Amino acid sequence: MPDSVSAAAQRPIVSVCIYCGSSDAVDQRYKDEARQLGGILAAGNLRLVYGGGGVGLMGEAARGAYEAGGKVLGIMPQFLRTKERLLDEVETIVVQSMHERKMMMFEEADAFVVLPGGVGTLEEVIELLSWRRLDLHKKPIIFLNSGGFWQPFFDLVDFTVGKGFTPEAFRRTYKSVDTVEEVLGAIEDLASYDEEIDTRRVL
Ligand code: AMP
Repeated sequence: MPDSVSAAAQRPIVSVCIYCGSSDAVDQRYKDEARQLGGILAAGNLRLVYGGGGVGLMGEAARGAYEAGGKVLGIMPQFLRTKERLLDEVETIVVQSMHERKMMMFEEADAFVVLPGGVGTLEEVIELLSWRRLDLHKKPIIFLNSGGFWQPFFDLVDFTVGKGFTPEAFRRTYKSVDTVEEVLGAIEDLASYDEEIDTRRVL
């Protein structure tokens, strides 16, 4: 976990971490968008940071980036090397645990894009949002809301806001976009958004 509010200082966006599903048994639309996003990051001269490997949307995004000549960093725990199939074409750091992987993904990135995924993706994004709520970072967080994929999640967050458990202002700490083409613009918007949000105060 970042240890102080100094971790919240804005820095130039040079690396973008993606969180997304590892399953291949999903709608082709999601895979196409992941691949397209990889290409867009490469074209924007942004390094893609991800969990490593070649499966699911993770693999698609990595291939999209390196095929477009972009830089890619994968971070893979030792025990998943075979299951999540390392890609030879990209730089991969092998770490010892899931915690180490997640921490390194956080530290290596200046912004985050959340694509459709399962419980692993949810776990990663919840931690990122909860650190934002605690003001431990101010890195932009963008959801690619492909066909409304993330709406049930937004509804759940809104429900916790409605019940007083999450401050209203927290909703402004992340952005949702409907198309891959809007991702970079949304990152820029959030990166230059300097209103101080008191994410801890509910009332
Ligand atoms: P999923 O969305 O369930 O397909 O998972 C997406 C990725 O998240 C996979 O690479 C998982 O290995 C990874 N993942 C799941 N749980 C964790 C965790 N606690 N820490 C780091 N990565 C995780």
